[in-house]
Parts: sequence; structure tokens; C-alpha cells
Amino acid sequence: MALQTVIRVAVPVPLRQLFDYLPLAGSPLPRPGTRCEVDFGRRRLIGIVWEVGEAEPGAHKLRPLRQLLDTDPVLDADLMALCQRAAQYYHHPLGEVLHTALPTLLRQGRAAERPGEPLWRLTARGRHADPAALQRAPRQQQALAVLAEHPGGLSRAMLASLGLSNPPLKALAERGWAELVLTDVPLSPPLTGPAVLAEPALAATAEQHAAIDALLAARGRFAPFLLDGITGSGKTEVYLQAMAAALEAGEQVLVLVPEIGLTPQTIRRFRARFSVPVTVLHSGLTDTERLDAWLAAREGSARIVLGTRSAIFTPLAKPGLVVVDEAHDGSFKQQDGFRYSARDLAVWRAQLMNVPVVLGSATPSLETLHNTRSGRFDTLRLTQRTGDARPPRIVLEDCRQLGPDQPLSPRSLEALGTTLQRGRQALVFINRRGYAPMLLCQDCDWQSECPRCDANMTWHRSDRSLRCHHCDHQQPVPPRCPSCGSQHLRDMGAGTEKLEQVLRQAFPDTPLLRIDRDTTRRKGSLDASLATIQKGGPLLLVGTQMLAKGHHFSGLDLAVMLDADSGFLSADFRGPEHAAQLILQVAGRTGRGSHPGTLLIQTRQPDNPLLQLLTAGDYHRFAEHLLVERQQTGLPPYGHLALVRAESMAPQTALQLLQDSTTVLPADGSVLCLGPIPAPMERRQGRHRAQLLLLAPARAALHGALPALLTALQEHPHSRQCRWHLDVDPVDM
Ligand code: ADP
Ligand code: ZN
Ligand code: ZN
Repeated sequence: MALQTVIRVAVPVPLRQLFDYLPLAGSPLPRPGTRCEVDFGRRRLIGIVWEVGEAEPGAHKLRPLRQLLDTDPVLDADLMALCQRAAQYYHHPLGEVLHTALPTLLRQGRAAERPGEPLWRLTARGRHADPAALQRAPRQQQALAVLAEHPGGLSRAMLASLGLSNPPLKALAERGWAELVLTDVPLSPPLTGPAVLAEPALAATAEQHAAIDALLAARGRFAPFLLDGITGSGKTEVYLQAMAAALEAGEQVLVLVPEIGLTPQTIRRFRARFSVPVTVLHSGLTDTERLDAWLAAREGSARIVLGTRSAIFTPLAKPGLVVVDEAHDGSFKQQDGFRYSARDLAVWRAQLMNVPVVLGSATPSLETLHNTRSGRFDTLRLTQRTGDARPPRIVLEDCRQLGPDQPLSPRSLEALGTTLQRGRQALVFINRRGYAPMLLCQDCDWQSECPRCDANMTWHRSDRSLRCHHCDHQQPVPPRCPSCGSQHLRDMGAGTEKLEQVLRQAFPDTPLLRIDRDTTRRKGSLDASLATIQKGGPLLLVGTQMLAKGHHFSGLDLAVMLDADSGFLSADFRGPEHAAQLILQVAGRTGRGSHPGTLLIQTRQPDNPLLQLLTAGDYHRFAEHLLVERQQTGLPPYGHLALVRAESMAPQTALQLLQDSTTVLPADGSVLCLGPIPAPMERRQGRHRAQLLLLAPARAALHGALPALLTALQEHPHSRQCRWHLDVDPVDM
């Protein structure tokens, strides 16, 4: 039988396959990477043409495509290849991966073109109109005159700058004298050469120079680098100078950062340095603005594209360099849906685009360090802080004797006082917002447990609420114990609100800023607080990890860190790694000016050898220690992990689902099956959660075992009563 031409379409559904459709009669065959509308069951969906193929006419008749939405692909060959590789690696349906890669409006079918700029101009009738007819409408008369002087039309912005508002223009339109037209804005050629620099570069230090040279030598080919530089060593200046070379050659640069809201300073430095546009993809963009930015990147007019993890899918007409700043940061891993690591995708993308990629960090993840040792990545080292700045001193403060009502030790308070007296700034760091992490009845042991989670609700004193930080459940603080009616409710532990109170009492005359998610909810408030810190002068800061990342505070001499221990005690094998990264990031905020910096770590385990190792400030010795442990236990980066999480309304259902599915795993020991076990927080948001961890020395063995496991999970009768997903290279366990 004759073969027929079919269009293989990736449809955004949770099925790991492509779907065949017949081409549209009378239309040319669509190109891979274009969008099409298809009938799927009873729904109409927008899919991506994956390829044109041939198939034997099957038993059931294929349906034709409904319509083609693009003539040019919305996903270029590089992005298609990136998505395909990611879909295979993460065992995620290709249709959903491709969907994730597109801006919302394109997923919904919006045209992938920049509409021309709307311009106001006179109609033929308007050009011959008599202004005297508008004597009673002076504003229309003025508008008529201005438009007559600009036969090419005027944009809204131009009109506004000439003092003209919309109503008179609309009135002219009603008379048929003026009209709003869309015109194509011709692309201006990209700025190149020395003109891309708006200010001169800093004179690089010898170490910076070596790093910049290595990056420049790699231009035009794939080369992955780790820029391993202590806090304050001037990593950003290295990015800036490497970027300048790419921009001067007319290329684009893609920069990934953990959180845009936390990096206003970095963005300002980029904008100050370059005269080319810096397109920032932040969460506040409307869908239209996001599409605009995407289109500008695709056509090459967006020269620097800066965004969080999803920016890795931004199309680039002429890529030159990829930068991943603070590459160790956990936020590069997507935590729901398609669970990709933007850090890892950045390396693949650079490979596909044939450009260098640089991962910058003061505390690189063990995976990245492993990549440098195996020779996959080249290392660029910055071991000195710039200027006179010295590395911060890290001191352990034994607080085993502290009472439950004493969040700060006498020595910490004294150090804070001394710093403030010198007119300098000090930070108290605690990674917990709210007043106290729990309320407790002293008569019956009632605790403020969340009704839906195996967790306590945090007391937020400012709005008299109890809030669960895991499911957002919220309720008013009970006046008495809900269980026995006693009035003796007391709080345990401390959060940022309580520290603010304690510090205001201890230092009533010092200005204090609390910075956490509760105080920075309003747009611009974090920026305002950061500006206050920048101004200098004595200031007490209380804050969460929002203050730990990337900021350059030159007046900050001291940080006191509370609750640094928990990571070292956590069930997650990455606990110590993450705790060390946080400790060094916090320490790194201090001593960045000409004054020495100190971090005081309040700890209940002052003898912990890992913590002691950190006080030397040497992340590499610490990491070395952890790497030996990981090698002994076969954990990443020496082994490869995949985690299946499942949850169900009924207890046991999820656990049973996982248990039954393990029977399809290979019995030859190539994949170790750890569990299934109940999740560390078994109940969350009213659901019972279980997890199954797979560990394999060889990545191929792990990946070979996953398809059968996924099929078993899908086909299990419990599957419908559970939500479950697979997480390849999980980071939070
Ligand atoms: P990192 O990102 O490594 O923590 P930054 O890039 O924020 O460090 O640099 C720390 C400070 O040093 C910044 O204020 C920056 O302007 C300054 N700096 C960086 N490089 C130089 C240099 N070569 N000469 C003088 N100052 C520099
Ligand atoms: Zn009670
Ligand atoms: Zn809860």
C-alpha cells in the first residue's frame, strides 16, 4: 500500500509520544518548529510540528490539521534540539516541554510577530480640513495642527511629549480626520564596536584578567567554564568584560540569575556599563511584554537578555555568550511540572549554539566541582577580594547555654553594639519569617499544628495570625488554648519579627530594617530598603536569605547567623552542602569595603568538624570533605538519582502505588531502590505523601530503568487516585 505523508505533532498533553495528522489540503507542508491547531479527542489544542514523515495508512483514519499558525518556526533548530534532549533526559512529554519553552501568548495562539507601532496621522480628509471649523475645540485644533506638521505619523509617546492626550485625537478620528495606523518600525542595525560601552571597564586585577582572557579565547565555540571566585572577588566585572567582547561583535548575551528581585544592583551595573538594551524578563511583565521581549530576542534587537530559569528558552538570533550567575543556587531547578535544571540546560544550550558558557559562584555545587575535576569544565579562579577588602572572619559562638527566650547570645549582642557604635552596619540573619515558629499550651501540650500538614503553624504577631508556611493555611491566633481553654499559651523559637522586637529593645536608638517576604511584598519596597543600606550609616538589619544573595553592602561589618545548625542535621544528604553555601554567602555580605568583616555563627554544635572546617572560610576544603563522603556512599555526583514522589488523599494509597511499581525495576543491582518510604513531611495540604528514590552508579542504567517504571506507575489502578511525578536529579528531598 502507498505510504501517506503525515505531520508528526508534539501536543501539550501528559503522554510521551508524538501524534500523526494529515497535512492541510492546499497548503504547503509545515516546517518543523511551527505551531498548528489540532483536534485532540474532543479538544482543540495548539501543538508544535515536530517533523513531516510517512506512514502506512493505519486501521483508524488520521485527522487533518485544523490550521497552521506560523510560516516561520517559533522554535529554531537549537531550541527544538534542546527540548528534545531535555524531554529524554527528564522523561517528560515532549509536547509539554515545548509548551514550557514558549511565552504564554504563543501557547495560546497569538501571532509570533511584532505588531508595528501604532501611529496617529491625518486622513486625506483631515489633510484638507479647515482648522477654523474647530474654533470651539481648541485642543482638537492643536492636535490637527501638530499632525499636519508630521505627515509620517506620531506615536503615542511622541504625542504625549508634545502635550497631546488621547481625547482630542479620538474626537478627530470620529470626524474622520485622523486615524490610528500600524506601521512597521524598520529595524535599526545592532550597535557594535566600542559604542556598546557606555562607561569604561574597570582595570581588571591579574586574576580577573586571566579569567577574561580565557573567556575571550573561547569565543565562537562551545566551552564550559566555572568562574570560581570568593564573594567580593569581582565575578561580575569578569562577566561584564567578556560580555563586552560579544556585544562589540554584534552578538547577544543570555544571563541567568536566581531571582531578579534580589539583583537590582547587578541589573543597574549592566545598564550603566552598556549602551545596548538590557532586556529583563522579570515576573512583573505582562504576557504582552513578555512576548515582546521574546520577539526582540529572536530578531536580535534585545542584546542582553537577563532572566531567571525559564529565560533559558529565549530564542537568540546571534548568540555570543551564556552566563549563569550564582550557579549553585537551588532556584535554577524547576520544582513543579517539567522539573528541569536551568543550570544544566544552559550548558546544553551553549553547546547547541556553539558559544562559551560561564557558571559563576563562590560556593559551586559539588556536581559542578566534579565536572571541573573530570575535565568537562575549565576553572577560572578569583581568590582575592578586590581593593583592600579582606575575606570575612568566621567565628563559632557556642549557644548551648541559651534559654528558649534568648535568641541572641550576650556575645552576639555585644558584637552588634560595638559595630553600631563604630557607625557601621550589622545584620542578624535568620531564615525564618514570622514571630515564632510555634505556639504551645503550657497546660496540655497543645501545639499550633496545621490542620492539613505535619507541621506547625508560625505565629505572625503583626497580623495576629497563625500561618502554615507549607500550604498557606491561615487562621487567627486563638485567645486561649483550643484544646483545654488554658490562657497559658507561649511561643517557642524565634523568627524575624521576634528578632526585630528584641533588637529594638536592645538598641532603641539605632534605625532597624527588617527584610523578609512579609516586609517586601509591596513592589519597590525591597529596592527602597536596599537603597537605605547603600546610603551607609549605622543600621541594624534583620533578614532572611533575601539578604544573603549577591548584594554588595560596603557598610556592613558584622553578620550574626542564627539556626545555622539545622542544615547539618537535616535528613537531606545535601543539607550540609546547602548550609555551607548559605553560611559563606551571608559571611560574604560583610567586609566588602575597607573595614574587615565578621560572621558570628550561633551554634549548638560548636564541635561539629564540618562547621569548624567552614570557619577557615575555605569552601574547597569543606567541599573536598563532602565529596569524599559522597564517593563512599555513591551519592551524586558519583551516583545518579531519580525520585518519584506520590501523594493521595487516603493514607497508604500513594505508598502502595510506589511499592507495586518497584517490581519492574532491574533485579541485577544496577539500580538501587531506596524506599518507598513516607515523605519527610508525610502529610501536606491534606495529602499523604510517599517517595521512592532510585540511585545508580551509571546514568545509563538509571535512565534505562525509568521508562518501564513510568509505564507501571501509569497503568497501576491507584494511579488515578494519586498525583505523582518523576524528578530526575532532584535537589530537595
Ligand atoms: P562578586 O560578584 O564576586 O561577589 P562583585 O562583582 O560584586 O563581586 O565585586 C565586588 C566589588 O568590587 C564591586 O563593588 C565591584 O565594583 C568592585 N570591583 C570588581 N572588580 C574590580 C576591579 N578590577 N577594580 C576595582 N574594583 C572592582
Ligand atoms: Zn491547652
Ligand atoms: Zn499546612
